Amino acid sequence: MTSSVFTPPVPSELDDEVDDAQLPVGQRWAYPCKLPSCPDYGKSWLLRSNFLLHLQESEAHGSSAATPAIRRAIELLWRYATDPHLPPRAAPDFRSREEPDEWVLDYSFRDDRGKMIAGRGTHRQMEMHKERHNLMLQMQGTPDA
Ligand SMILES: [Zn+2]
Repeated sequence: MTSSVFTPPVPSELDDEVDDAQLPVGQRWAYPCKLPSCPDYGKSWLLRSNFLLHLQESEAHGSSAATPAIRRAIELLWRYATDPHLPPRAAPDFRSREEPDEWVLDYSFRDDRGKMIAGRGTHRQMEMHKERHNLMLQMQGTPDA
């Protein structure tokens, strides 16, 4: 029984253009950090070497990105092609910290009568839910004291 595992060759971590041949015309790679516990979560690098250095040096990634092969796997998993002439945009599937409005979460709020209401949606949807709910209460009239 052979226990050899096929490992693809890992290109030099200093080579910024290693996969540029795979890019659509006019696009370039961007390398976002998608580790939520990392202080640089959401930041994108345009230089592959800088991104790999980040994985290597930041404590948050630490042992989870310890070898060049693992860093290469992370790079391939997280990177995305982008048009350098467009304003920077968030990576696909990325929840931006700057735009918590896009986050879907389980929420609950206390309505005008002090009752807890729960729901699921973005912050904006919660505000709308709250507004609609309190409006409905007003339309029902004040409860007997
Ligand atoms: Zn990071």
